[in-house]
Amino acid sequence: MERRRLTLTEKLAIMTRQARCPVCGEKLGRLEDCEFDHEIALARGGEDSLTNLRAIHAVPCHLTKTSGTKATTRGSDIHEIAKERRVKADQDDFRRRLLAKSGQAEPADETAPTQRKGKWPKRSFRS
Ligand SMILES: [Zn+2]
Repeated sequence: MERRRLTLTEKLAIMTRQARCPVCGEKLGRLEDCEFDHEIALARGGEDSLTNLRAIHAVPCHLTKTSGTKATTRGSDIHEIAKERRVKADQDDFRRRLLAKSGQAEPADETAPTQRKGKWPKRSFRS
C-alpha cells in the first residue's frame, strides 16, 4: 500500500500537536525515538493523512499497537485486521449459502403443498 513520506516539518507538527504518546501516556521525547503510526491502520481503511497520523514511541509502544504483546495480540492492529478478515469471510460464506438456498428454494416450493403435513389427520369424506 502506498503511503506518504512525512517531511520533518510534518513530523514535528504532529509531535507538537500531541506531546504525549497515546499508547503509554509518557512524553514523546526525541524525534528519533518516535515512529509515526496511522491511528486507524491503512489496512483497516484508515486515511494516509496527517490527521490520521500520530507519533508514538517506536519501542515498545508502536510494536505493541501493531503486533500486540508477547502474551496476546488482542487489541492490536494485526488482531483487528485478522478479525475483520474472519468476519468478512463468514459473511461471504453466509451470503453464498443463502443464495444457494434461495436458488434451490424455488423448485422446492412447487412441490411443497403436496409434501406438507396437515394439522389434522386425513380422512376420506365417505366414511
Ligand atoms: Zn509510548
